[in-house]
Amino acid sequence: MIDNKKINKFSISIIKDLQKNNFQAYLVGGCVRDLMCGLEPKDFDIATDATPEQVRKIFKASRIIGRRFKLVHVFNRSELIEVATFRAGDDSSNNNNLIKDTSGKIIRDNIWGDLEQDTYRRDFTVNALYYCPISQKIVGHKDGMKHIHEKSIVSIGDPVKRFSEDPVRSLRAIRFSNKLNFKIDKDIKEAIYEKGHLLSDISNARLFDEFCKIFLSGMAEKNFNKLSSYGLSKYLISTDSERSEFTTNLIVESLRNTDKRLINGQSITPGFLIAALLWPGLIERSLSKGEINLRKFFRSMDYVLRNQQKITAVPRKFQSYIKDIWVLQLKLHSRIGKQPYKTLKHPRFRAAYDLLLLRERATNKKQDLGKWWTDFQKNDENIKKALINDLKEKNIQETPKIFGFSEELR
Ligand code: ATP
Ligand code: MG
Repeated sequence: MIDNKKINKFSISIIKDLQKNNFQAYLVGGCVRDLMCGLEPKDFDIATDATPEQVRKIFKASRIIGRRFKLVHVFNRSELIEVATFRAGDDSSNNNNLIKDTSGKIIRDNIWGDLEQDTYRRDFTVNALYYCPISQKIVGHKDGMKHIHEKSIVSIGDPVKRFSEDPVRSLRAIRFSNKLNFKIDKDIKEAIYEKGHLLSDISNARLFDEFCKIFLSGMAEKNFNKLSSYGLSKYLISTDSERSEFTTNLIVESLRNTDKRLINGQSITPGFLIAALLWPGLIERSLSKGEINLRKFFRSMDYVLRNQQKITAVPRKFQSYIKDIWVLQLKLHSRIGKQPYKTLKHPRFRAAYDLLLLRERATNKKQDLGKWWTDFQKNDENIKKALINDLKEKNIQETPKIFGFSEELR
């Protein structure tokens, strides 16, 4: 039984309004699954037999969105609920209407259907449950409840075919198995090995969305490990397939750090994570005779970002942020005269300093630059001066050309 108190009130009111207008309406998918598993749903999605246009007419504050997958956003002051029309998936009756490409991938999916058809076009049995908060009944895939109790991710239909239609389902199976602590059905495992490579055809915008779901919802490290074990991490992170020890360490450190920040209620952004994930590739490309060459460094920033963008879009607003963090890495290595004061004042200082700490952790060797900056930022003017003078006395040479990156290279 689902406790209605755990359900978003606005979504219940939308369901009531749809039903008042003689349409069917249910909560569906992730929210029903999560409620059944005792988790707090991330969002509440609604499925209905009303077409997008009919939904749009009922709710003044609503908007039809999407092309590949048309649905309606219904909103109030602070919330937004997605209302999707029942769709007929890929059964023989409409096989010729679904628009697919040569590999079998569905490009357009806007053929309306009934609840039963809608059930079968969903990805996994545990995602194909529908809950009516008014009657408090659950309907949908006959095995959905069973598989929730068995803690198992099972494909609806042959996963090889379903993952060809939409290769992102491979990533979703892995993500859900970690999130719910469910095992992945054997057939799905095989389908991931067989069809995982089709992820290279998925649009970078869609993979960026998936990237965020996978790495920014508290399970980043676990998801990365499982993705790697299936050979899929390369479809989300563009560092070359042969990763150096430092690269792998930095990936793991930055994902672990993201998970920790979420637990501590600290802010997170894909920009920071991308800056960290791509850092090793950047410095490797910037080397010349064992040193960082600044000209190369600046040129490589765009190259490395572009490579990532080919696989997951990197929204424009993050690009200058990422570059700032990278350039600040160089500045953090330069502690002469007034430079540390300038660096400290930079609006991205904190993020850059966080990346420095991660880099140090990823080298497995004790380094003191991070500690120096920890002291420098937290202490008063006298100690700040002393910290800079101390470097002079110890005769620590720091010129913009010689950075201490040797630990980070292959
Ligand atoms: P979460 O929101 O926690 O990531 P979710 O299951 O709600 O999980 P959504 O992406 O919000 O995932 O999708 C809502 C529902 O739509 C899913 O539960 C599933 O039934 C269906 N769905 C989503 N993506 C696909 C897909 N690629 N193929 C088939 N069905 C899908
Ligand atoms: Mg959802």
